[in-house]
Amino acid sequence: MYDPKIESHESYLNHPLFINALQLIDEAGQLINADPNIIARLKRPKRIIVVSVPVRMDDQKVKVFSGYRVQYNSTLGPYKGGIRYHQDVTLGEVVGLACLMMLKNSVLGLPYGGGKGGVCVDPQRLSRNEKQSLTRRLTSELGPFIGPTKDIPAPDMGTDAQTMAWMMDTYSQEQGFAQPGVVTGKPVEIGGSLGRLGSTGLGVIYVTERLLEKNGLKLAGQRVVVQGFGNVGSHAALYAYERGARVIAVSDVHGGIFCGDGLPIPKLLDYYNQNKSLKGFERVTEISNEELLALDTDVLLPCALEGVIHSQNCKNIRAKFIVEGANGPITNEASKYLFEKGVQIAPDIIANGGGVIVSYFEWVQDIMSFFWDEGDINQKLRTIIVQAFDKAWNLAQEKKVDLRSAAMGVSIARLQKAMLLRGLYPR
Ligand code: GLU
Repeated sequence: MYDPKIESHESYLNHPLFINALQLIDEAGQLINADPNIIARLKRPKRIIVVSVPVRMDDQKVKVFSGYRVQYNSTLGPYKGGIRYHQDVTLGEVVGLACLMMLKNSVLGLPYGGGKGGVCVDPQRLSRNEKQSLTRRLTSELGPFIGPTKDIPAPDMGTDAQTMAWMMDTYSQEQGFAQPGVVTGKPVEIGGSLGRLGSTGLGVIYVTERLLEKNGLKLAGQRVVVQGFGNVGSHAALYAYERGARVIAVSDVHGGIFCGDGLPIPKLLDYYNQNKSLKGFERVTEISNEELLALDTDVLLPCALEGVIHSQNCKNIRAKFIVEGANGPITNEASKYLFEKGVQIAPDIIANGGGVIVSYFEWVQDIMSFFWDEGDINQKLRTIIVQAFDKAWNLAQEKKVDLRSAAMGVSIARLQKAMLLRGLYPR
C-alpha cells in the first residue's frame, strides 16, 4: 500500500539531532547578529546523495543496503566528514551529523565544508568479506561525487583504517592511478598520517586540559569517567591516564566498570582487545551506562553515541566538567539545564575535532607527498584545537553565554564572512 510517510523526501527535518543543530544555528545567529539570509541557507543541506548498495553475502544471497552521503556545505572548501556503519543510521541522522561537520570544520579554521555518510547496517554482523564488498560497492556508487578536491570521507563509528584502505583502493582502481587524498584515516602504509588513529582521543584530552587550566586546575589527580570504549573513548582514557588522571570508570555498549582508586588503563586495553568486553576484568564493580553517567566525578567524557544525556537524565549528572568526545551526546535542553547548574561543557564541534584536524594534516601530506613525524603532528593538533577553544572561551566570557553557544557563534561568523564574500550565484 502507498505510504506517504515513507515517500516524504524531507522527513530528515524531523530527526532530533538535526533539530538540535538547527536550533543551535538560530541561537548562534542571534548571538552574533547574523544576516538572516545566511542563516536560512545554513539550515539546509546543499546536496543529499542516496545510493543502493547491493552486496553478495557469504550465503550467496544478495542484500541491498541504503547508503547516504550528505554534502552539507562547501563554502570553505571540499566536503569533509566520516562514513558511519551502524544499525540505527537514518538519513536524518546523517544530515544532522553533516551539519555538525560543517560547524566543526568552520570553528576549527579548516579549509573544508561539511559532509557525512552512513549505511544502515550492523557492522558486527558482517564478515570481513561482506564488509569489504559493501565498502567497495558504496565507494563505486559514490565515485562521481567524491575525490580529493570534492569530498573526502574518513572513518566514523563502525568504520576504520581498513575500511578507508578499501575505499582508497576502489576509487584509485576506477580512476586508473593511486589517489591517496580521496579519504583520510588510512593506514600509514598507503598515505595515512602518523597520529591519526588516536587523534580524536588526544584532542579530547588537550581540550580537557585547557578547560581545567582556565579554571585554575590540572588534569593530574582529577577523577575522569569515560562513556564509550571505541576509538575515541579508549584513546581518551589512555591519554588521561598517562597524564596522571584517575580514570574511575569506563563503559561500552554493554555496560561499564568502576574502580574508585582508578583503573589501570593500559592493562584494561590489553584485556579489552583480547576479550572484546569489559566484563570479567579484575577488582572492579560492574555498573550500567546510566549509573556511569551519574557518577560523582570531576570530568565526564561522553565518547559514544548522540543524545545520551537528555532532559530525563540530566538531573542525575554530578560531573563538574563535561568534554564531548562524541558528536551531539547532550541534547540542547540538557545542555542548558547543566549550564544553569554550573557544569562547564566543552562542545563536540571543538572537543572531538582532533580527528578531522589530523585528517586535514593527512590530506595535506598526501597532496605534497611529504610526511611529517608524530611529534610535529601532535604539536600542530594542539595548536589548532586550543586556538579554537580559546576563541570560544573568550566569546563566552564576553557575551556571558555557555561554551557551546560561543563555539557556534565563532563557527557561524566565519561561514557568514565567507558566504558574503562569495555571494549568491545566480543572483
Ligand atoms: N568522523 C570524524 C568526525 O566526526 C572524523 C571526520 C574526518 O576526519 O573527516 O569528526
